[in-house]
Amino acid sequence: MGRVTVRRRPLPQSIRRQVFIRDRFICHYCGMPLSPRTGQVDHVVPVAEGGADEAENLVSACGNCNRGKSSKSIAEWATAREASRLQQLWMDRSGHPWPMPPRVVRGLIEAYGAPAVEGAFLSIAPTVGLNEGQHLWVPRLYDYLRTQRLSGRRAKKRRSV
Ligand SMILES: [Zn+2]
Repeated sequence: MGRVTVRRRPLPQSIRRQVFIRDRFICHYCGMPLSPRTGQVDHVVPVAEGGADEAENLVSACGNCNRGKSSKSIAEWATAREASRLQQLWMDRSGHPWPMPPRVVRGLIEAYGAPAVEGAFLSIAPTVGLNEGQHLWVPRLYDYLRTQRLSGRRAKKRRSV
């Protein structure tokens, strides 16, 4: 699906700033950290389709995602969106003011699936100290997910016997 960028007028700075702050300066699609200078603001409903220049219709995006949206596969988009949603969930539950690295989130989703990762975030995030380094809690997440998967398999085996 081709996207035509219609920009009638530049977005007011105040709205751009509002969107970046709300989205915590990370790309809504791929989770990459953004700077106020290089970050872009993308219309969820395109202007050409009547989308408004209002914060509710805007998300922060990196240049690659904003420009190259149509070139990614649906599956890649789905994963990127899930990753960005889960990054947000992790920050909300852990209290960490910075996003989990996109590669870590995507690695977890690819290995275990988004629902399992969400479950792990909900269990582990509240136990993570604010000053606790990534090298401590990333292994805890993987341990949790592995344990869940093992107990899931065991349950399946029991049922099939
Ligand atoms: Zn991006």
